Amino acid sequence: MQYKPKQGGVFVLSDVLYIVVPCYNEEEVLPETARRLRAKLETLIGKRKISPQSRIMFVNDGSKDGTWQLITRMHDESSLFSGVDLTRNRGHQNALLAGLMTAKDRADLTISMDADLQDDVDAVDAMVDQYYEGCDIVYGVRSSRKTDTLFKRYTAEGFYRLMNLLGANVVFNHADYRLMSRRALEGLAQFREVNLFLRGIVPLIGYRSGTVTYERAERFAGESKYPLKKMLAFALEGITSLSTRPIRYIVGLGFLIFAVSMVMLIYIVVRYLTGYTVAGWASVACSVWAIGGLILLSLGVIGEYIGKIYLETKGRPRFLIRSILEEDEDGKTD
Ligand code: UDP
Ligand code: MG
Repeated sequence: MQYKPKQGGVFVLSDVLYIVVPCYNEEEVLPETARRLRAKLETLIGKRKISPQSRIMFVNDGSKDGTWQLITRMHDESSLFSGVDLTRNRGHQNALLAGLMTAKDRADLTISMDADLQDDVDAVDAMVDQYYEGCDIVYGVRSSRKTDTLFKRYTAEGFYRLMNLLGANVVFNHADYRLMSRRALEGLAQFREVNLFLRGIVPLIGYRSGTVTYERAERFAGESKYPLKKMLAFALEGITSLSTRPIRYIVGLGFLIFAVSMVMLIYIVVRYLTGYTVAGWASVACSVWAIGGLILLSLGVIGEYIGKIYLETKGRPRFLIRSILEEDEDGKTD
């Protein structure tokens, strides 16, 4: 549906919004999330900013608890809720992609957010406004990390800095709370990579983008599904799937060590000619360890990339959907 503004800012034909929420073992927080999102959606529909066909789409990422049962029940109670059930746990990024790709064919605009209510639901209004002003992508950016623990704050901000240093340009302090128009999603669909790091890919799509800042709250209930180990893996994924700069740094390092070895060569020859041929054991041992370590590290980095290539060439599906909850044309649910 196309946006046609009437004079005075009243929208004649409003666009269909899908709010996509990946959920993994979120039964504790889901009822509250659903309540708030529903209230938000109803207000927006009431204001005629979005179409009554708009939906909240929960993606169940292979939860082991009652998350899917909860989603099914909510869908039965209100047609505002729809659901996508993945065949197994595929991780946040893949679950989100599954939701976005399902919503792409049904919505004019989508907003993705976490299930734990850390993203401020009230930022949705500003995002939708920017969409109507012509933005295809609106990034939700955290204004501060007051509610995060000191450790999370430093590791997370360090992560954004490291990402940019290594050539993966991500929007600072933006996670996966963002609005995307249908054509932006169609752009995203053409990025076929299996190693998925959405917040790095989205800026590559182009179009006009905007930002909305919000205060990130604490997780409403339940535990973080991103312990340190997963966070590190995610950071590594981000870097290696977006940038080959680490390999270039290795080349630079190689040149540097070569230059040092040239200097050492001259030094050794001079020592030889002046008669000091008994070289120290310490310097030899040190260089063996240092060079050995560097070689292993470099091989490891290159190995990471080869691993990526291996996974990409297989081109396995990024997600498989077991079922989708939605209404038929005549309003009945399946
Ligand atoms: N999530 C998911 N699959 C997973 C892990 C997490 O769909 O394997 C979802 C989770 O339900 C939540 C979002 O991803 O909606 C972000 O997870 P979480 O809030 O635990 O991460 P944090 O905010 O602590 O980084
Ligand atoms: Mg969270």
